Amino acid sequence: MAIYFDHSATTPVDPRVVEAMTPFQSDVFANPSSLHQAGRRARQAVDAARAQVAALLNARPAEIIFTASGTEADNLALIGAMATAPAGLNHLITSAFEHPAILETCQWLERHGTEVTRLPVDGDGLVAPEALRRSLRPTTRLVSIMAANNVVGTVQPIAELAAVTRAAGALFHTDAVQAVGKLPLDLAVLPVDLLSLSAHKLHGPKGVGALFVRDGVAVAPLIHGGGQERGLRSATENVAGIVGLGRATVLAAAERAEEASRLVGLRDTLLDGITAACPGAYLIGHRFRRLPGHLSVGFAGQEGEAIKLLLALDEAGFAVSTGSACSAAHAAEPSYVLQAMGFDPFRARGALRITLGRFTTGEEIARFIEVLPPIVASLRGITSPRRARR
Ligand code: PLP
Repeated sequence: MAIYFDHSATTPVDPRVVEAMTPFQSDVFANPSSLHQAGRRARQAVDAARAQVAALLNARPAEIIFTASGTEADNLALIGAMATAPAGLNHLITSAFEHPAILETCQWLERHGTEVTRLPVDGDGLVAPEALRRSLRPTTRLVSIMAANNVVGTVQPIAELAAVTRAAGALFHTDAVQAVGKLPLDLAVLPVDLLSLSAHKLHGPKGVGALFVRDGVAVAPLIHGGGQERGLRSATENVAGIVGLGRATVLAAAERAEEASRLVGLRDTLLDGITAACPGAYLIGHRFRRLPGHLSVGFAGQEGEAIKLLLALDEAGFAVSTGSACSAAHAAEPSYVLQAMGFDPFRARGALRITLGRFTTGEEIARFIEVLPPIVASLRGITSPRRARR
């Protein structure tokens, strides 16, 4: 088994989550909308999971809408909020380095009459509240800024960004797919109106997510039908998946703080080990304002060889990433995330993303620090410094 350092792409399902889901993949198969006992048992399970997800975020159960993914939650938030905008409010603000689930949805909205502003990101991978303040207009309906970036791991000042937005009377959405279960998020305090999450990023199953919709915020559905999820997401519920998401949030609530400090320790050991052993290695993104288990590093002059580095590490038994799994087809192209942070096209091809999770051990980190330097050195021979400067 390879050592798995790609938790931002997806996480292994926690065995305790599998255990909670198992009955709902066999015996408890009834439709939660059925009125018989079996149906009512499935309904109870969905309702219990809704309360569990709400508890992690300090939200109300009725504010949680289950979806089939983080991507769907993002689409529902953006398209759903623009569809219910009062006449004349057709402006949306986002950042230049959001996940494609946001950027592509913004492009679609733009083609259908929404005016979109994309805020710049600084060299540390942060969005400035002041830049947001300057971009707000009387016609702004919605601001959508991710809580944590999936490629470089930086954590945005969501409380400030949301406060600036609320002061201007617009709605604030955050794509918190990478943040939920890793950072404390208290929606009783944060002035956030809409928040997306996805089970498979917090040791839950794939194909289930949720959108928090604050009480009183109007969102139109994308999927029409039998009226499940308060009419916001029709379709027979993915009961086992929803139960898995609920269990994953209970585990995150109980273990997050301890897990985060352990991961920060492992991450920092890894960073120190890499920078000590690989001359020219540099951290990408803010040193401290980052997800606990997330490291993005470049190797000066070797940025064009990131794919070779990934494949050599794969051969040596380590699963890492060059950026985001969502853009595998474009892996050799410059990363739009790094370009948004001011990297030139050559350097923007060169990140190594190493992301840790609940089951990562100190021995795995030590092994990686041993294995990486000779691989980086062996690739150095094939990259001329002259090319690196171009
Ligand atoms: N948003 C962010 C920040 C992500 O990292 C991802 C997944 O990579 C998504 C949205 C999409 O979530 P899902 O895979 O559940 O559709």
